[in-house]
Amino acid sequence: MIKFDSITIQEDTFPCVYCDAVIVGTGCAGFNCADTLWNLGVKDIIVISNGINSGTSRNTGSDKQTFYKLSQSKEKDSIYDMAKDLFEGGGIHGDHALVEAALSLRNFYKLAGLGVPFPHDKYGLYVGYRTDHDSSSRATSAGPLTSKYMTEALEKSVKSKGIPILDDMQLVKLLVKDNEAYGLVALSKDGYKIVFSPNIVLATGGPAGMYRDSVFPPSQVGATGVAFAVGCDGVNLTEWQYGIASTKFRWNLSGTYQQVVPRYVSTDQEGNDPKDFLFEHFSTRQKAIDAVFLKGYQWPFDAKKLENEGSSNIDLLVYEEIYKKNRRVWLDYTTNICDDWFSIIGPEGKEYLQKCGITEEDAKKSPLHRLRKINPEAYDLYKNNGIDLEKEKLEIAVCAQHNNGGLKVDIYWQSNIKGIFPIGEAAGIYGVYRPGGSALNSTQTGSVRCAEYIKAKRRIEDVEDYVKYAFDELLDSVKETINLGSAFLKQKEDGLNIYELDIKLKKRMSEKAGAIRRLDLLKEALNEAKEDLSLVVEKASGRKIDINMFFYTYYNLISQICYISAMIAYIENGGTSRGSYLVVDNQGNEKTFMDRILVTSYLNGNIKNYWEKVRPIPEHDTWFENVWRDYREGNLFD
Ligand SMILES: Cc1cc2nc3c(=O)[nH]c(=O)nc-3n(C[C@H](O)[C@H](O)[C@H](O)COP(=O)(O)OP(=O)(O)OC[C@H]3O[C@@H](n4cnc5c(N)ncnc54)[C@H](O)[C@@H]3O)c2cc1C
Repeated sequence: MIKFDSITIQEDTFPCVYCDAVIVGTGCAGFNCADTLWNLGVKDIIVISNGINSGTSRNTGSDKQTFYKLSQSKEKDSIYDMAKDLFEGGGIHGDHALVEAALSLRNFYKLAGLGVPFPHDKYGLYVGYRTDHDSSSRATSAGPLTSKYMTEALEKSVKSKGIPILDDMQLVKLLVKDNEAYGLVALSKDGYKIVFSPNIVLATGGPAGMYRDSVFPPSQVGATGVAFAVGCDGVNLTEWQYGIASTKFRWNLSGTYQQVVPRYVSTDQEGNDPKDFLFEHFSTRQKAIDAVFLKGYQWPFDAKKLENEGSSNIDLLVYEEIYKKNRRVWLDYTTNICDDWFSIIGPEGKEYLQKCGITEEDAKKSPLHRLRKINPEAYDLYKNNGIDLEKEKLEIAVCAQHNNGGLKVDIYWQSNIKGIFPIGEAAGIYGVYRPGGSALNSTQTGSVRCAEYIKAKRRIEDVEDYVKYAFDELLDSVKETINLGSAFLKQKEDGLNIYELDIKLKKRMSEKAGAIRRLDLLKEALNEAKEDLSLVVEKASGRKIDINMFFYTYYNLISQICYISAMIAYIENGGTSRGSYLVVDNQGNEKTFMDRILVTSYLNGNIKNYWEKVRPIPEHDTWFENVWRDYREGNLFD
């Protein structure tokens, strides 16, 4: 890291540094990128983050948090078989599927070597289990906190190399000229800081800050809007995973939490007027109870599982209670869904519960009794997070969990702007369906690929010259951002309250652009988001401490505009329900565009959406001598 003179703008000076690559984000993608760059010999790098301990990887988990890799079980598997499964998820390029599959074992062994406790048998086999959309038991897990262990192991490796990690640095501007990146502006407690670099790795995670109903950790906001604002394209912005989760302490309610058949109840906003709302919507009580049971292993909302009174009707009903009836929804583990539920439940649920040792006597007791008998840790988890299921009901919603789409990248994870590399969840690799666990594999794949590209192709020979050019050419861009922040600080205190706006924009997204989508409501949401964006610039006011919040809100709104526009374009093109969302319009015409990717461009408020055909899985030359020659001669990157 080379320190340069500071930049002076309107009598204020801002410190500047140069480095060969700056990695934004300290999740498992960001740390792995820094670690890999260093191993490849690119050592003049820095990692920055708005909060070292923030983000999804470090703060999330699930029943058995999954990592997806080539199988080591008895079933036959190959990189091409795995790529085919990924490709069949729809809306994913075949070359991306192949790269994800090809790197999965390399990624996995690095993590195992760094001490992530993935279990293996006495012969050293890391056997796995079958996750969704998986034909070969490729899934493995280090327990409920796999991503946390990954992050900690990678962080330790980065720290052991002495790579600088700068905390409290919120990305507020990417410096781009003629479609190429030259650096960034970050905001910290001490003011703005400028980093000049030809390589910006955006390991900033999913744009979780857009949604109210969310199982992303509250600390994860994302910076996708910052990238849209300078012309980075988005892909598959329509594609998210949603499912039922608790909202006070954010956690997916899958597995045993549903299999013990809790009672679903809604109340008014004050918690009064309790109502058991499920039964009236199913043709029989058995169908309702079976749907609750099946939610256990059919966790994400899936439009296909609405048919035949399937399990996704539970998500739909929860959504309707909250947004159509303005009520709150809870899971009650202290009371049974109905007295005779155990004699009504279908054979699949009954067999499962009996195998778990649940007797007629247990069935008469509470869902909590059964939860503690089958999976006591599930009860402890909430207790340890301040919620005693014995004493209180658990508030729930249909929550955003993962963004399959994101920023557009090529096979080296470079965006359409040279030198900007979105990796991990910030990148839009996956389309409609993805096997559980592939997001964590992807955090590692993107980080390795872009590190290799940076090492081979993006080195600056004359740093002095480069920085002089960047100083001269990008100064206006820096000024623009600083002026935007200053305008906010100059507003009167009684202007638009930034915190109220944040609550409003998040609720709007969950209500109108989440798992349930209707063209008229999406259009309404888009207009509101555009209006809010101009209001936030003209009228939002706050104190100095709120300036971070101003930038989050500003970029969250740009992000919303892009995401909602893509959802509108999809439906206007005739698109119907797919993946994890229901399209209320266009019913009866099966148009799901699985062989295409919707690209979204944003520049100066103008949005363009267009389709790109998916590229097939490459049928390329794999003759060893030829591959060896290309590798030796560095011909891999053209
Ligand atoms: C409940 C839940 C369960 C999941 N289970 C699984 C699973 O079983 N298997 C699987 O494969 N995936 C799972 N996922 C998804 C997976 O955990 C994430 O995709 C992955 O951890 C993302 O890692 P990342 O490094 O890309 O981003 P993150 O870990 O989110 O890191 C982002 C980093 O960027 C920083 N940052 C963000 N915005 C800014 C900004 N403006 N300025 C500066 N810094 C910024 C953050 O502070 C953070 O350090 C799950 C996700 C959730 C929410």
